[in-house]
Amino acid sequence: MASRWRLALLHDWAFAAGVALLLALLVAASSDAFRGGLDGLAVTLGEPQGAGRAGAAADILVLPARHTGLTVVPLRVAFPAEAGDGPPWVVWVGRGAVDAIWLEGAGWQSARSDFFAPGGDDGTLPSGYMFPLRGDLGNDASIALHVVGSERGVMRVRLVRADAAMRIAQLGSAMSASIYAALFVLALLTLALYGAVRDRAFLQFFAAAVLALLASAADNGHLYALPVFGAASAWRGDGIRVLGLLFLAAVLPLLQRYAGTALAMPRLSRLADRHVWALFALAAVCLMRVEAFGGVLPGVALVAQLGAATLGLAMLVDAGRRRVPMAWSLVLLFALVAVASLVIEFVAHGRWLDPVWLRYGGQLVLAFAAAVLAVGLVSRVGQYRDQRDRDRIARAESETRMRREAARADLNAALQTALRGVPDTDLAWTAYRLLLEHLVPQVPVAFAAVLSRGHGGRDIDIVVPQASKAAVDAIVSGRLLPLKRQAANGIPLQQPVTVEGQHGVVAMEAVLPLAIRAPAWGVLLLQRTGGDSFNAAELALAGEFARATQVGIEHARAAVALQRSAELDALTGTFNRRTIDQWLGRGVAESVRSGQPISVLFIDLDRFKAINDRHGHGCGDACLRAVSKVLHSALTEGDLLGRYGGEEFIVVLPGRGGAAARAIGEEMRLAVECLVFEWEGQRVQLTASVGVATRLSDEDLPASLVERADKAVYAAKHGGRNSVHVAPAVFS
Ligand code: GH3
Ligand code: MG
Ligand code: MG
Repeated sequence: MASRWRLALLHDWAFAAGVALLLALLVAASSDAFRGGLDGLAVTLGEPQGAGRAGAAADILVLPARHTGLTVVPLRVAFPAEAGDGPPWVVWVGRGAVDAIWLEGAGWQSARSDFFAPGGDDGTLPSGYMFPLRGDLGNDASIALHVVGSERGVMRVRLVRADAAMRIAQLGSAMSASIYAALFVLALLTLALYGAVRDRAFLQFFAAAVLALLASAADNGHLYALPVFGAASAWRGDGIRVLGLLFLAAVLPLLQRYAGTALAMPRLSRLADRHVWALFALAAVCLMRVEAFGGVLPGVALVAQLGAATLGLAMLVDAGRRRVPMAWSLVLLFALVAVASLVIEFVAHGRWLDPVWLRYGGQLVLAFAAAVLAVGLVSRVGQYRDQRDRDRIARAESETRMRREAARADLNAALQTALRGVPDTDLAWTAYRLLLEHLVPQVPVAFAAVLSRGHGGRDIDIVVPQASKAAVDAIVSGRLLPLKRQAANGIPLQQPVTVEGQHGVVAMEAVLPLAIRAPAWGVLLLQRTGGDSFNAAELALAGEFARATQVGIEHARAAVALQRSAELDALTGTFNRRTIDQWLGRGVAESVRSGQPISVLFIDLDRFKAINDRHGHGCGDACLRAVSKVLHSALTEGDLLGRYGGEEFIVVLPGRGGAAARAIGEEMRLAVECLVFEWEGQRVQLTASVGVATRLSDEDLPASLVERADKAVYAAKHGGRNSVHVAPAVFS
């Protein structure tokens, strides 16, 4: 990461150095070109009359801010003796923003020029005012430059041959044309970038580039030559200021976005926001041309522009420190613009650079800076988008993960609740149904199915949605063996599904073996139409769901078994005494509530001790099992049979009154008597005594009912055994 940054930084500096070199070459080339063409005569300005004053150099006229009216500057020219030969002489004046400018003297007056209304004499993209002199003017001719205007300006006055003046004009045209072309291309480029990337920053950039173009054209006076924009001349110097202010108002947000200032330096960012509004407000005031503000506006606008420049520089330096691409290049170019602006100021006091370079140098650097900013912005927007895409993907992934996590928890909860109380035989079916219901919303499929063979002694085919049942039936009838083999492998896999007579892959199929003990087997089958395969996360999820379901089934089974073992008597498999007591309690309460009768049979095997003694305990146990079986077969729905202890059984008969209970008791007694039981080849004859007790209307304790039944058995034993005795209401 660090090395990548270092590389980017190196790149940045190399770029900046390249730009600086290019600019230096341009400066050198243009000033050289000029020097060749400026073999003019020395012009000395006399003391100006009016607001204007002579600059530090003899040939420079300075028009201060807030001046009004006419300034008349006498020109003193020293024509050499042979000056009459060659092309005519031309007075060339740098193109300041004046309302009118002309030469006058010796009964002669030149054509008038207006900066804000360029005419045919000015040529295309003029960089100065040209006044051809009359050929017969001598050294002593007194000519004066007349200037009317109110804008601040620094204008150099030269006397050159017409061909040299032409060269100056051409150089100026070329420079301004290249600046306009650069800005125009940049504007188009940013518009195209907006179309491609749809990032608002490029629209802002487009606006800034167009404003830079307009502001430059206005500053050079070229804007007013255009048909529509000519109307801007009504605002005079204020129009130039408005465009400059609007340009800065467009650039500041752009720099903010590029530098990422809002996040990195929120206070600076807020300051810049406020400054943008101030620039807009100032531009509006300029547009209104309020007379009262006229005097101070240029100064206020300058301060606002300097403020914007300071803010912009601060953002760029901050961006450079954070190694934002191209930031240092922009700082460098920014510095060049600042230097160019300073040079414009200083040149009033010396002759550092030639006027054409002076006029266009700043704009040239600005165009370069805009190009560099465009490059920087493109990479910035790229960074933003990368980050956003990464964030979005991460968010989507975590959402999917969370959704699946929730689905997994749901499945587990559903398995726990839904499988409780489900009969053993339906456990697997119910669980697989839940598995499919929870899996299908998480993994997009055409259908999902569970196919299992022999699990819990059953075959299960479940399909979601039901509409795909036919397709799954076809798989079952055609591919059961291969599926069984895949189940035995224990490895989840996916395979393309092809159909005879159809071209290509029809669907993708995932086969996930279920963890079922052999020889039973089962698979979870997922099919997705088309060639889209299942990704690893989906397969993992399906596998996990299948495992959870299998675990759920095992748990439910174990729970059922555990509960049963707690409820049942280990030897006979009938209910144990604890369970019978519970049921009896419930039955008696129900009988008390509903008034329905309830009866209890107490069954005690006769002389069982003797059987044990004769044939051994093993025989006795076998007898107990056999008896419990025949007793069980005499029960009807709702009756309960339990072993109460030793060789005593109890039967609870809810809803049965005395007569019905007695009949069942008799039936059971007979069944025991008729039971053909053989032990080691010997027939063992069994009989039982049965006591019957039906709940009395005032009897609400189960123990009392059992006690009466017990006493009835006792009575039956006394009566000679192998008989049924009904308990009376009260034992005497
Ligand atoms: P009666 O006709 O009076 O009931 O005679 P009985 O021999 O059945 O007398 P009693 O009910 O007092 O004796 C119960 C005998 O049943 C005692 C014991 O040997 C036998 N017995 C109790 N529980 C078991 C058991 O779980 N297995 C076996 N093999 N015998 C048991
Ligand atoms: Mg007994
Ligand atoms: Mg007995």
